[in-house]
Amino acid sequence: MQNISREKSEDDLPEGVLAVPLLRHQKMALAWMVSKENSSHCAGGILADDQGLGKTVSTIALIQKQRMEQSKFMFVDSDRLKSEALNLDEDDEGEQTVSNEPKKDQGACSLSTSAGTSAELFVNQPNNVVNKMVETKAERKKKAKVSTSSASTSRSMTRPAAGTLVVCPASVLKQWSNELTDKVSESAKLSVLVYHGGARTKDPRELAKYDVVVTTYTIVANEVPKQMADDDADQKNSEEPSASNKRKPSANMQNKAKKKKKKLKDSNFDLDSGPIARVRWFRVVLDEAQTIKNFRTVVARACCGLRAKRRWCLSGTPIQNAIDDLFSYFRFLKYDPYCTYNSFCTMIKHPIARDAINGYKKLQAVLKVVLLRRTKETVINGKPIINLPPKTINLNKVDFTQEERSFYLMLEERSRQQFKAFAAAGTLKQNYANILLMLLRLRQACDHPILVKGNQSEYGGDGSIEMAKKLPKEVVIDLLAKLEVGSTLCGLCNDTPEDAIVTICGHVFCYQCIHERITTDENMCPAPNCSRTLGLELLFSSGALKICISGKSSSAVASSSSDNESSSISQSSFVSSKIQAAIDILNSIIVMDPLTESYTMESSRSGLGPVKAIVFSQWTGMLDLLELSLNINCIQYRRLDGTMSLNLREKNVKDFNTDPEVRVMIMSLKAGNLGLNMVSACHVILLDLWWNPYAEDQAVDRAHRIGQTRPVTVSRLTVKDTVEDRILALQEEKRTMVNSAFGDDKAGGHATRLTVEDLRYLFRI
Ligand SMILES: [Zn+2]
Ligand SMILES: [Zn+2]
Repeated sequence: MQNISREKSEDDLPEGVLAVPLLRHQKMALAWMVSKENSSHCAGGILADDQGLGKTVSTIALIQKQRMEQSKFMFVDSDRLKSEALNLDEDDEGEQTVSNEPKKDQGACSLSTSAGTSAELFVNQPNNVVNKMVETKAERKKKAKVSTSSASTSRSMTRPAAGTLVVCPASVLKQWSNELTDKVSESAKLSVLVYHGGARTKDPRELAKYDVVVTTYTIVANEVPKQMADDDADQKNSEEPSASNKRKPSANMQNKAKKKKKKLKDSNFDLDSGPIARVRWFRVVLDEAQTIKNFRTVVARACCGLRAKRRWCLSGTPIQNAIDDLFSYFRFLKYDPYCTYNSFCTMIKHPIARDAINGYKKLQAVLKVVLLRRTKETVINGKPIINLPPKTINLNKVDFTQEERSFYLMLEERSRQQFKAFAAAGTLKQNYANILLMLLRLRQACDHPILVKGNQSEYGGDGSIEMAKKLPKEVVIDLLAKLEVGSTLCGLCNDTPEDAIVTICGHVFCYQCIHERITTDENMCPAPNCSRTLGLELLFSSGALKICISGKSSSAVASSSSDNESSSISQSSFVSSKIQAAIDILNSIIVMDPLTESYTMESSRSGLGPVKAIVFSQWTGMLDLLELSLNINCIQYRRLDGTMSLNLREKNVKDFNTDPEVRVMIMSLKAGNLGLNMVSACHVILLDLWWNPYAEDQAVDRAHRIGQTRPVTVSRLTVKDTVEDRILALQEEKRTMVNSAFGDDKAGGHATRLTVEDLRYLFRI
């Protein structure tokens, strides 16, 4: 998939529109995006550049470009404007499906007085002019039919025309609004509305006033009615194609059914839709579009329900699991004919299953039309597309102390015996979760012995104990059984859950993983085929559930358990070899680059501040331990993990990026840090290894990206002669495998499930 449809032509904006000049590959992206928006078939596409190549900037350039083109038409060439208006109407497929009648008025459109007036009214907002005119025309068309249409139709035709809607995870909402302001020069300012929070407007006309509205997937999922019926039909068709063919109704009946469905949908549309669904967007941009990769989820359906003339997906990792991921994008883009599941399967999925080589060739051709992807390694005319400072990756092999070693060996021996027992009984597969738990303990022992002991969490969502008390006892017992140690994996990270919690719908996750999900992205249960709405009060720890069964007063148990928790951690004054190694690195960085008077907030912002470091671990427990040592060493730090509120995260990122005194950011590998820009750091320390090597790459990319002015040093800490050696080897193997399967492209498969062979290797059996 690498470098698919690499465009050679470039486009640019006049000087002074953007605050920073476009890089060459961004000019190419702009040319490609402009040409896609002007094409009659599928106006939009997937910009799938690697993280850090500036997909946001390219998108802002596109918004500005089209805005300027239109203002030019306004004053210079009103004929072009007319034809443009017609084309826009054709591209709006939502509009087309309203009626199957041939367009009698095609080409007969002239600037009527009313259209002229509205154009004049909007002279200061050229972005809106074309939309306004289209709407006027559409209105006229509908007015002609108004006698036969229902009240809901006449209401829907008053949907105001709006500018660009950017949909992104809540964690990057702030970053988008900042970039929309910072990347544009004063004279070409865009009006931007962040549509988020309880106090947001309820008036669609308010949304229509802005050039750009930025919002989250959660809000789209809540405000846009899902397109349920269509997909279910698709689903049936694809599962039993022959049967459905036999039952095929006459064309006439089909048409009638279609019209009826459409009518139903329209009336639903206005009844339960929020402001965001009640405007006609000129352009919708889905950032981190992999959020909709599962086409069955509510959020994916809701995004498809947005009305827009231009549609874009931005994603550095478009394919995460399977070919099906692509279907969801195609459906959103209305990329005919691949936008119905039936034809997607017959034309793409099934051919690949039958004959991988030719199937993928066909897929590449299909993608070429709608997808542009460049990686950091991409070269244009022999030159790399971006000139990042070099990145050095060091593997730091740490030695255990004698005590740590004997603790580790004891644990390893026990695990191997257990593994052999499973193998002898032929139950390795059934015990997959158990085996991963044993591996987890070994991996944690490499970080700090105390992590191995603290297994059952008392974490739970806010108010979950109160909620659990209201549940029938059988339900509580059922839920508790799901949390039984080693019985299941986290549905989000596919690893043994840390601080496991079970949701009201019976799905198990790490507390951090699910907290992250429902506080930032969407409040629906992410388990496959479950879209139960979740709140923090519906997440139960085993501690909370046990309280309900034992009937002990919650306060007594909760306080005693949290006492134990904090005392065991505060007594864990033992500094493990790995933590010591990390502290040594941090100290040497700080000593070599002492804080001087010349370091100010401003110099930090411009990348000239003091040398800083990010430290990653996948366990919040390890971050807790690291904090103790940072405090003892008087190193100022901030923290980011999935259990924190968005506001606190934003504040911590800002402190780290701008406060010269704050030298270290400690971060969870599992926190949603997609898109976060932390180029003030030029050292990255990885405390532990993850199964998926690409998660590590993405972590490093927080610092190694455009804007980084210094060479970046990555230190991966591993302990000699432990399971970590073997994880390293497995990672390499996975990298090779993924590379060969996806043609050199790391956006390919993220298969994280370990095979029995992998497991044997890890246990040295
Ligand atoms: Zn997890
Ligand atoms: Zn669920």
